[in-house]
Amino acid sequence: MFRTITDTRLNDLHFKHDESSGLKAIIAIHDTSRGPALGGCRFISYQTTDEAIQDAVRLAKAMSYKAALAGLDQGGGKSVVMAPDGDFDREALFRAFGRFVNELGGRYITAMDCGTFTDDMDTIATETAHVTCTTAMGDPAPYTAQGVFGSIKACVAACKDLPDSLEGVTVAVQGLGHVGYALCQLLHQAKARLIVADIAQDKVDQCCKAFNAEAVSPEDIHKVNCDVFSPCGLGGILNNKTIQTLKCRVVAGSANNQFADPDSGLSLHRQAILYAPDYLVNAGGLIFASLRHVGESDKVIRKRIDGIGETLTRLFKRQAQSGEPISLIADRMAETILYGNDQGRMTA
Ligand code: NAD
Repeated sequence: MFRTITDTRLNDLHFKHDESSGLKAIIAIHDTSRGPALGGCRFISYQTTDEAIQDAVRLAKAMSYKAALAGLDQGGGKSVVMAPDGDFDREALFRAFGRFVNELGGRYITAMDCGTFTDDMDTIATETAHVTCTTAMGDPAPYTAQGVFGSIKACVAACKDLPDSLEGVTVAVQGLGHVGYALCQLLHQAKARLIVADIAQDKVDQCCKAFNAEAVSPEDIHKVNCDVFSPCGLGGILNNKTIQTLKCRVVAGSANNQFADPDSGLSLHRQAILYAPDYLVNAGGLIFASLRHVGESDKVIRKRIDGIGETLTRLFKRQAQSGEPISLIADRMAETILYGNDQGRMTA
């Protein structure tokens, strides 16, 4: 575990087991040099505690990079609550989690992530002020979708062989949850052609009906012929096997930690697939959570989210100059912001 902490430059890792509610939770604080660590609370099943720790740590690191590239005065952190087996009292569980967050005295601010909802944030808010995305503040997913949509537009614009607008461009969306569905809505409005998949059939049916989308199976979505593949389900979708089967020009989606293998970025680069780094593309939710937490207006938040596509365009220009994989250039930019130029890194 200490190896993981060192390798990821993680600040600290916190554990809580609350016997009465059954809470088993982990909070990973990656970096607080630019402000308190902000990151969602993931509530899903894990096979092992080690799997939950790895998830929290990797996600926390991505939050630091995301906040840095988004220009926020915010550090990176993430929490996971391991979904209990059998019956449990959801309110008691999230109240206990709220007390856990409160013990950290504001070094970590929690928010929504996979498996958590604004109602859960309301429950947490009964125990701590260090929470955002409550019902009163709102759901970050539509803001995340706005950032993904802007990123897809920037990617398509950067591909000379694709049309200038999204009209007629084929986008394959994997995962039709909070973000994926809102993204499909924006793409449909822009007259893009949609191919969709989700493990939940009702979400697929809803999307096909509302946006005239074509459905394929979850096993096939990354293999379909399309211009843009948009992973909006869980992470780890891009590995050396799946990348070989992609038939797209662009990968741009909201899922966190899309790379399963460390050299996935290089593999995409070698296949001449334009990759939009996940932690840049999906920063809309973080921008929303961070700025709404300090009372910023919707207009200001939306404008900041439009900046994601602009940052992406800057990255593409650097890539054209250096010929390096975009994922590498983005990591360097974020690390320069976080750690300075001491390692001879490129200035952001
Ligand atoms: P969500 O839980 O609402 O939706 C995820 C969807 O993916 C679900 O509908 C689920 O059924 C589907 N799914 C899971 N495995 C799948 C598979 N193998 N094939 C196809 N579909 C599958 O989550 P969300 O809030 O929409 O977030 C989606 C992704 O974006 C996550 O990785 C999340 O961490 C990331 N993200 C979300 C936000 C946000 O604002 N919600 C912000 C940043 C990043």
